[in-house]
Amino acid sequence: MKETLQPTPKDLTLDEINQRFATDETARAYWESIHWPNGPVCPHCKNADAKHIWKVTPNEAKKIRTGLYMCAECNKQFTATIGTIFEDSHIPLRKWLIAWYMLCSSKKGISSLQLQRNLDLGSYRTALFMTHRIRHALKEPVFKDKLTGTIEADETYVGGKTRGRGRHFMGNKVPVFSLVERGGRVRSQVMKYVTGKNLKAALKSNVEPSATIMTDELPAYRKAAKEFASHQAVNHSAGEYVRGLAHTQSVDGYFSLLKRGVVGTFHHISEQHLPLYLAEFDHRHNTRFLTDGERTVIGLQKANGKRLTYKQPK
Ligand SMILES: [Zn+2]
Repeated sequence: MKETLQPTPKDLTLDEINQRFATDETARAYWESIHWPNGPVCPHCKNADAKHIWKVTPNEAKKIRTGLYMCAECNKQFTATIGTIFEDSHIPLRKWLIAWYMLCSSKKGISSLQLQRNLDLGSYRTALFMTHRIRHALKEPVFKDKLTGTIEADETYVGGKTRGRGRHFMGNKVPVFSLVERGGRVRSQVMKYVTGKNLKAALKSNVEPSATIMTDELPAYRKAAKEFASHQAVNHSAGEYVRGLAHTQSVDGYFSLLKRGVVGTFHHISEQHLPLYLAEFDHRHNTRFLTDGERTVIGLQKANGKRLTYKQPK
């Protein structure tokens, strides 16, 4: 029984996921193994002493839910969803976990409409609420360490329509700035105004001074990357894309996946929600060498202890 609840070593199909989370009991046991790797912890008084925590036997007649625990230290009851993004949700945990798998395993992401259909959710609003809450959980509040080595920095414009207004017209497109560690991690952010000052601040707070910065010829990068060990720029407008090690192909690749996801899967992303989608795409990039199962578990671990702040849209 226990083995089937462990993070899966291989990629899962939707069918296998559905079997794994066929009941709320198996889904709950799975979440408990991620939320409490060393056994239950009382969220009220932090008591983790197994001798002073009891599992309450579920009893439908007495309205005692599955997954209920009793803490003998503080005399309060709790479950594994208290204080997590799953708290106060009427959606079964089973469906939540399937949604996590689906979002983490699709290369370009999944639309809320698809989720609504696949999980037989009551409304599109519910599906949107779930995907946004998952993305919210994936978003890192503050990064603990900085990117190192060779860093490709670039900006792109996402969403909106600019047709027929000339190449400098931005319309309602939103600038996204990404930093890609060559062969490593990515960090993306919405940058309302791509100025030397903003680029410099973003580079400074995310990249080690010893790094080599690779950009295109945008003049703003010259000043922004000044304080780093080295800065090399390729001149895209002059047709130069690669000059030895100087290129921005990693960040270009990231942007092309992001754009295919935005155009193909999401159709319309509001500026307000764009940071959530960036968190989703960054998470998939940063775990790209892992299996779908592992990617999901790492995502769920990020959700751990992250008290819900994303509210149901009205
Ligand atoms: Zn307690």
